[in-house]
Amino acid sequence: MHGHQLKKVALGETNAQWLARREKAIPNGVAHACSIFAERAENAEVWDIEGNRYIDFAGGIAVLNTGHVHPKVTSAVEEQIHRFSHTAFQVMPYKPYIELAEKLNELAPGASEKKTIFFSTGAEAVENAVKIARSYTKRPGVISFVGGFHGRSLLTLAMTGKIDPYKRSFGPFPNNVYHVPYPMSAHGVTTEDSIKAIHSLFKADVEPESIAAIVLEPVQGEGGFYAAPKELMSALRSLCDEHGILLIADEVQTGIGRTGKLFAMEHFDVEADMITTAKSLASGYPLSGIIGKSAIMDAPHPGGLGGTYGGNPVACAAGLAVLEVIEEENLLERSNQIGQTIIEHIQKLKNDQANSVIGDIRTLGAMTAFELVDSKGQPSPELTKELTGKVLEKGLMLLSCGIFGNTIRVLVPLTVSDEILMEGLNIIEQCIAELNH
Ligand code: PMP
Repeated sequence: MHGHQLKKVALGETNAQWLARREKAIPNGVAHACSIFAERAENAEVWDIEGNRYIDFAGGIAVLNTGHVHPKVTSAVEEQIHRFSHTAFQVMPYKPYIELAEKLNELAPGASEKKTIFFSTGAEAVENAVKIARSYTKRPGVISFVGGFHGRSLLTLAMTGKIDPYKRSFGPFPNNVYHVPYPMSAHGVTTEDSIKAIHSLFKADVEPESIAAIVLEPVQGEGGFYAAPKELMSALRSLCDEHGILLIADEVQTGIGRTGKLFAMEHFDVEADMITTAKSLASGYPLSGIIGKSAIMDAPHPGGLGGTYGGNPVACAAGLAVLEVIEEENLLERSNQIGQTIIEHIQKLKNDQANSVIGDIRTLGAMTAFELVDSKGQPSPELTKELTGKVLEKGLMLLSCGIFGNTIRVLVPLTVSDEILMEGLNIIEQCIAELNH
């Protein structure tokens, strides 16, 4: 640990006791993937209150690309909390907000001049990107994709393309939001299908002159780690240019090094009008942002955007440290290595198993996933649940995702050592060998 003495856990505290307290005090609506309670964490490892150690392949859902409690991030936070923790940027602005915006403007892909605004959550960033697009285009409509996830506020839920568990029982949603299919070659949906669907939307439901923005994840996250084909992104850019629509890349999950580039949009040949970012941006301190073309970002009137906590100074200080760590520790290159190691390991497992439970395997950088299938090759959410349960018993935290609930996703910190990465992969191997379909 990094020189800080933690208070000892009260002797004899158990996960079971805290589970009972949690169930009494906290509503059902917020789920938990594991019934174990965190005590401390370091890089890619977490310890629970009973002293059990876990390898963290979940990374707090893509938030910990620079690992738990990175010393550089922690010292930047410590330095800032002794200066001030809050003034509200719109009351009294401060340096870390501007410094981080300048860095992101410089690092975001594309030749256009950029501006950045900060918020606290991914949903807020996406929702405000739509506000900016509406203000700039003076149009109401938004097109997003089946299987996409954009947040849990009502507008971002409307944009999210997955009923369970996100949308069920929460309607009505804001209108003027339309969904089209997202290409998933493993499940027979092509780029052509997506583009055709947009054209039929324009024929049947809404004229293109009423659409403010097309919003997509360059790699669908919650939807199952499907990377957008390059042709899709180029075709969307052309459609947007033709009709005066803005292209918004939701990089809340793909951003900050996960895909082997700082932003996943660097894998494509076209520039987005706005990029949303959050998650690993500040290593868990709540911070999100929109980086966009200056003329577009300046459309809303002064006071139209903001929020009490948006761009919190402690979170911005953490964000500056995160960007330094990514550069100093070559984490983009490491991201690609990690993805390759995982893919090779899982591919070998698949090849070694006759009629394997492992289905499609895919990665972009370290945004790596594989599907679990039944004996007929159909998606198996049951086996997926069994696997995440089994690996946890052996000390590995692992998340599932996907519109069929059968995708295992790896979001291990990019700072993980080779030893711990292999230890985690070996646990997956052992547990997959125990799965029967
Ligand atoms: N967009 C994407 C692509 C996401 O993955 C998420 C979170 N999983 C969000 C938006 C919402 O972010 P938050 O939970 O911080 O509101």
